[in-house]
Amino acid sequence: MSNYKLPILLFGAALLFACQPKQSAFQYNVDKFYDLELLRYDVPEFDSLSLQQKSLVYCLSEAALWGRDILYDQNGRYNLRIRRALEALYLNKDKVQCTDQEWSAFEKYLKRVWFSNGIHHHYSEDKFPPEFTQEWFVEACAQAGVEYDPAILPVIFDPAVMSKRTTAQDGVDLVLNSAGNYYGEGVTQAEAEAWYAAHKDDSAEPLWIGLNSQLVKNEKGEIVERVYKVGGLYGEALEHVVYWLKEALQYAENDAQKLVIEKMIEFNETGDLKTFNEYCIAWVKDLDSRVDYVNGFTETYTDPLGITGTWESMVNFKDLKATKRTQLISKNAQWFEDHSTTDPKYKKEEVKGVTAKVITAAILAGDCYPATPIGINLPNASWIRKEYGSKSVTIDNLTHAYNEAAKGNGFNEEFMINDDVRARYNKYGALCGDLHTDLHECVGHGSGKLLPGVSKGALKEHASTIEEARADLFGLYFLGDPKLVELGLLPNEEAYKAGYYQQMMNGAMTQLVRIEPGKDIEEAHMRNRQLIANWVLAHVDSAHPEVRIVYEPVPTCNPNHDDVPCEYKHFLEIRDYQGLRRLYGELLAEIQRITSEGDYAAAKEMVETYAVKVDQELHQEILARYKKLNLAPYKGFVNPVYKVKRNANGEITDVKLDFTESYIDQHLRYSRDYSPLPDVN
Ligand code: ZN
Repeated sequence: MSNYKLPILLFGAALLFACQPKQSAFQYNVDKFYDLELLRYDVPEFDSLSLQQKSLVYCLSEAALWGRDILYDQNGRYNLRIRRALEALYLNKDKVQCTDQEWSAFEKYLKRVWFSNGIHHHYSEDKFPPEFTQEWFVEACAQAGVEYDPAILPVIFDPAVMSKRTTAQDGVDLVLNSAGNYYGEGVTQAEAEAWYAAHKDDSAEPLWIGLNSQLVKNEKGEIVERVYKVGGLYGEALEHVVYWLKEALQYAENDAQKLVIEKMIEFNETGDLKTFNEYCIAWVKDLDSRVDYVNGFTETYTDPLGITGTWESMVNFKDLKATKRTQLISKNAQWFEDHSTTDPKYKKEEVKGVTAKVITAAILAGDCYPATPIGINLPNASWIRKEYGSKSVTIDNLTHAYNEAAKGNGFNEEFMINDDVRARYNKYGALCGDLHTDLHECVGHGSGKLLPGVSKGALKEHASTIEEARADLFGLYFLGDPKLVELGLLPNEEAYKAGYYQQMMNGAMTQLVRIEPGKDIEEAHMRNRQLIANWVLAHVDSAHPEVRIVYEPVPTCNPNHDDVPCEYKHFLEIRDYQGLRRLYGELLAEIQRITSEGDYAAAKEMVETYAVKVDQELHQEILARYKKLNLAPYKGFVNPVYKVKRNANGEITDVKLDFTESYIDQHLRYSRDYSPLPDVN
């Protein structure tokens, strides 16, 4: 459900495809500060869209940008006042007398506020402290003639004030202790919950009560709802959103898409949740359009009670080349099923592949910007998902940007065993990563069957680890199959080795950089990767190990200088790739047996032996090596700039993208051109 939350995945993607030499002139790396890095993403194939489609993307991108202020205000009621004071000071630098160091501390704080759409870290949700004092800020504003509401001072500088955006702490009032602005001042958790309980919709097609509103107290102390809509809360921004959605209507590709846009306009104008349901259903049904979008109150993670949606937008269009790739794999689903290593009694007689839709993001906004998900899976209402389905997409150009930006960051130089392995990875690593994901999603999960009488939940708490391992192993086994070369998906019978090395290195070693010292592995995908790698390492031929971890002196070590002790490090070594493939196949057969028979005891044994515990010594070494690389764990994006040409009648004649805007310029421009909300909403 919902958006694939970013930081973990993003971090994973960065790890997965770290470090290959730069091939194109496109500048992916933009800026880096604190634990954040800004990247640029390319929008390939935009020029191949029709003028109608380009115009549609443009109008939807304007509708996206006009919602920016809403998210700031949802994240905290002082955020707009703070952002505006900071920007006013920033634009009057020449009037401020201070050292370069002081100014740079100030600039870094402002850049951080932009990244988080407010004063709390976008991921940890903790308030981040400025590296300049209140006195400095007050004095600088006086020099620059910047006026501001003094109420923002403790909000910025006092660590005790609004310290957490969304708290999940046990035993405290979640609403009173969260800085988010989903509830008015003084509203308690009990009051909000009582209001939701009284207004709950238990019908078969329930309205998502509270999705688009703030709960506040009126003069009599009663809880009332302020609805997000034109003429209501955030109306000044939603008016512009509606204007651009109406502009977009004339470029709709077909009636299904037109209906989606019309319903979104109506919902913004009325705030009527029944219309929102109709919009979601229309959106799920619109499968043929090339261009698609999300725009509105969507995810509910930031509301401490998980009900109200944060505003977000993403405009995108289908990546036809990548979609063709997944279609080809799906078409061969039965061949894969018949040729897998699993026992025939666990195979599906008739298997259907899934065609994963791959998209290209064209603009990111609201809660998708600058940090963003790399996949979308909506809508969130479970009854709509059940009755009408959902759309699940992966966003290829963002993944591609992460990969490109990671090239040359030193990761593979540090962790891969030698130049041959690195060279092969540079050539085929990204392709293997894509293909493995496709095999996992399009045929892996859909393969195999449960024996009669075995229930879906038989593996209980180990079900997701085993299921992810099953899909991953299915993908790994066939990645090394000549069939992929025959289908034209891989260029030669050497390429798959890049994927095998990456999977083993990540599962056995490098994914540990995401685990804190002393902790076990909890997350199902991480468990699955370690399960596969450690099972293989434990089952190799002990006389002629196909794959093993070696402890070796680093290449710079000079044995002739015995006064300088040689540095030893752990590396993964693969001596026999087809032997490794046989081991993947063996494990696939066993994991499929466990799944098909619902063998809980074997699943538990498998997970507990290989997936959970971390080798402490190796872990410490990996963490130390990773830390030296000084990589930023969180990434976000700068958008392209849309440049529109119009004729004398005002009709759009061309849309071009520009990729040169800096992070700072982009945010200053957005604040200048797309900031319709008042300070206090
Ligand atoms: Zn999966």
